[in-house]
Amino acid sequence: MLTLHGKGVSAGITIGRAFVLKRERIKVQEYVVPHAFIDSEVERFTLAVERARRQLREIRDHIPDSAPAEAISFIDTHLLILNDTMIAEAPIEHIRTNQWNAEYALKAQSDQLIAVFEQMEDPYLRNKKVDVAQVVERVLQNLVNPLDRGEEPIPDDLGGRVVIANDLTPTDAVVLKNRGIGAFVTNLGGPISHTAILARSLGIPAIVAVHGATRYVGNEELLIIDGKRGVVLLAPDAEIINEYRRRARKIERARRELDILRASEAVSRDGVPVQLLANIELPEDLEGVQEVLASGIGLYRTEFLFMNRKKPPDEEEQFEAYAKVVRALNGRTVTIRTLDIGADKRVDLDTPVSVANPALSLRAVRLCLQELGLFKVQLRAILRASAFGRVRLMIPMLSNLDEIFRVLDLVHDIQDELRRQGTPFDTKMPLGGMIEVPAAAVSADLFAAHLDFLSIGTNDLIQYTLAIDRVDDTVNYLYDPLHPSVLRLIARTIEAGREQGIPVAMCGEMAGDPRYTRLLLGLGLREFSMHPAAMLEIKKIIRESTLHELETLAAEIMRARDSRKLHLLVDSLNAADDPSEELA
Ligand code: PEP
Ligand code: MG
Repeated sequence: MLTLHGKGVSAGITIGRAFVLKRERIKVQEYVVPHAFIDSEVERFTLAVERARRQLREIRDHIPDSAPAEAISFIDTHLLILNDTMIAEAPIEHIRTNQWNAEYALKAQSDQLIAVFEQMEDPYLRNKKVDVAQVVERVLQNLVNPLDRGEEPIPDDLGGRVVIANDLTPTDAVVLKNRGIGAFVTNLGGPISHTAILARSLGIPAIVAVHGATRYVGNEELLIIDGKRGVVLLAPDAEIINEYRRRARKIERARRELDILRASEAVSRDGVPVQLLANIELPEDLEGVQEVLASGIGLYRTEFLFMNRKKPPDEEEQFEAYAKVVRALNGRTVTIRTLDIGADKRVDLDTPVSVANPALSLRAVRLCLQELGLFKVQLRAILRASAFGRVRLMIPMLSNLDEIFRVLDLVHDIQDELRRQGTPFDTKMPLGGMIEVPAAAVSADLFAAHLDFLSIGTNDLIQYTLAIDRVDDTVNYLYDPLHPSVLRLIARTIEAGREQGIPVAMCGEMAGDPRYTRLLLGLGLREFSMHPAAMLEIKKIIRESTLHELETLAAEIMRARDSRKLHLLVDSLNAADDPSEELA
């Protein structure tokens, strides 16, 4: 029996057969690179070659001793091809002289090279074109955003099978859930990628960064997936299967025990009420929200309404979707976040990503303030929906005050328009901002002065503070919500809210992770928004906590001089009890 290890991003045990998802070859787009961007295009190409080189070396280093010698020479051949000036340098010349984009420059060069090999008499040499094509494909994989790659049709009914893929987009996760996926395992990916977040909220056990999963797992092979521990077991025997069935039943029991807490209040031992809100992606997620009796919705990621379609939803369709959620919540808070497209959440997968760092580019409010047509339609739809309950409007990715002022102006204009038209809306609808860029956290006091509430988006706050791309598996090891800089930014934001007298919530993944609940309570957080599946466990911790004690301990943690000590202190904070360990 073979075991593969990766990063478990969504807990749960699945026993099922594999469906290996093969993606089509990358479709290379051609476009002209403006002179000003030639240098960065060359750098993009060089970086992709370097990454391909690292990957090949890593594969070679992990070839077991028992493997045939050809395995190593196969990789060595690819490394030689990659180092050849025809692949590593000639495309740079094309980028500089023809202003071609890197992908096209590489493709044009390799087409030429392959044509030369094809004309060779010697069948051995002729066959080398396959190696060239594979090397080029590897560089292209590193050049092209994973989300730009072609897609293979997925069967309509996966029947609980485990999908094994190089990478999956958030959109994939939704599609796969609808087709009865049992779990997924990807070669790439990180714990706070949107795909991982979706896996948790959709209840799909998932493991990412299992390097080589698509190479080692065969289609229809029987697998056991342990989503909590990040372990994939290939061809397990009957005894192991029985052991995992037992574990799955234990998890189910722990879940049922937590069910008793559904109707109880989230109040600490010393009587402090804490708001437990839900994160949702689509109106369909309402079922989960009602099941755990959340006190409202702390993050409605509206961008999912815009995905998997050619044209964005019009005002009516958006209004219907938002109003449906607002009505269903029946007076409880619904925090509707305006569109956060960009980076790993892309709507139009046909258009190539034209910038090297999409996460630092036109995303969320930045994009909305450029695409005013799109933004105004959404603001109108949200304002109209506010007439049916308690809506809060939330702006993602704020990085300066001017963005707040511009959104406020737009909202006021639309309110005037609606008033003139006699269309009802909530004139007191609170407008809040997400704190997910370090600049916003550092200046949270300035932001708080103009907003009605703040919500800390730790997924992006951690990404931007620690300079780690949330979807890049090579820097997963640096992901640390307990990094002192992250904690200081969180503490600062909570403090800013307190001083300004406005509520501060947290809606990043950290809010739904029981490892951090006590610390966050100790730092003064009183609003947690998370995927509904995590809520009962968090509620249990809150009910067993005495907040004034946690405040003292949190202050001590914040004074820790080194990261190791800090982690140990958090561990001891959590050591008290953890009967539902299996769910964490
Ligand atoms: C966050 O960044 O923490 C967040 C909640 O927003 P998203 O994950 O949708 O970027
Ligand atoms: Mg975010």
